Amino acid sequence: MTQPRAVYIHVPFCAHRCGYCDFTLIAGRDDLAGAYLDALQAEIERSPLTEPLDTLFLGGGTPTQLDEPHLQRLLDLLRSAFRFSPDIEFNVEANPDGLTDAKLDALANAGVKRLSLGVQSFDDRFLSVLERRHSSESAIEAFGRCRSRFPDVSLDLIFAVPGQTLADWQHDLQTAIALQPNQVSTYGLTFEKGTTFWTRREKGQLDQADDSLERSMYGAAMDQLAAAGFEHYEISSFARPGFRCRHNQVYWNGGEYLGFGPGAASFDGGVRWQNHRSTTTWIRKVLAGEDAIGDREQLDPEASAREHLILGLRQIEGLNVAAFETQTGFALEPLGGEALSRLQDQSLLELTDDTLRLTREGRFFYDTVAADLV
Ligand code: SF4
Repeated sequence: MTQPRAVYIHVPFCAHRCGYCDFTLIAGRDDLAGAYLDALQAEIERSPLTEPLDTLFLGGGTPTQLDEPHLQRLLDLLRSAFRFSPDIEFNVEANPDGLTDAKLDALANAGVKRLSLGVQSFDDRFLSVLERRHSSESAIEAFGRCRSRFPDVSLDLIFAVPGQTLADWQHDLQTAIALQPNQVSTYGLTFEKGTTFWTRREKGQLDQADDSLERSMYGAAMDQLAAAGFEHYEISSFARPGFRCRHNQVYWNGGEYLGFGPGAASFDGGVRWQNHRSTTTWIRKVLAGEDAIGDREQLDPEASAREHLILGLRQIEGLNVAAFETQTGFALEPLGGEALSRLQDQSLLELTDDTLRLTREGRFFYDTVAADLV
């Protein structure tokens, strides 16, 4: 049996929970870092991997929220637990808030190649709305310090923030482009049930951007980033040639991966499982030698093929129909059925040269397309 060569490590700590965020994390509990690392080490030792890793991704939460000794311990643990292939893509998500030179040096010395900086906006008004703790100026300063240490630095930005105009967003894009990152990821703000943003919107305290403004903003991202030489290669991702994120491509191509840490997901080609989302429960279960998996799902072949289809369509170049059919064992047209024809009639999907892909218009409606095909 083959082993996954893509590993995800979830680091659940944040200084504060931003009002829009529903990720798996624990805010203001840095005192749990030692127990978290004990549990992570135990969990990794239970699933030894002998194959070298092609990609390793530290996400969160905020991996760089760990203080310097704990961050160093995490990096030492990963270096000793896994073999790295010579061209491993070692990714880390970072927050400009609290990003010290010592942490950046530790990451660079451990072999991190790709750093994703969660800037979200270059406008202090919208950073404040988003409850981010850094300023635009400190984010730009942090970007410079990352740039001097890592060959590949990417920026995350959020659009459709309450009160943000199209011109405000275009200014954010121009500022990002001027910094010359290797990738820019753009996300429309979502209001997830259970977040304080959801509650505040229900009470009329926050105005959600209307759909037409949000679409104009996404269109502006496509136009401005393409004009600056970025390739739009996934719904939310724009990269300079040669700088696409290989780890995320494993997910979108239906590949196998192993996740460690609270809430981390894994997939072995047929079964998908996710660790318990509560950090304290996950720590307690792992350290007690118990099963810390919260959900496990055996995908039947048809469900697996449909998931492969909608993940593949996230990629702007689309999916090769012959390869899809060989990999899943399902012919595309009967699987897609009436929805596939209708989405083509609506000019949201196009089937050309044996490739199925979203049209430009379809990129604005990916969620609708995916819901129709799943
Ligand atoms: S820093 Fe990121 S992960 Fe942490 S609460 Fe804010 S948005 Fe969520």
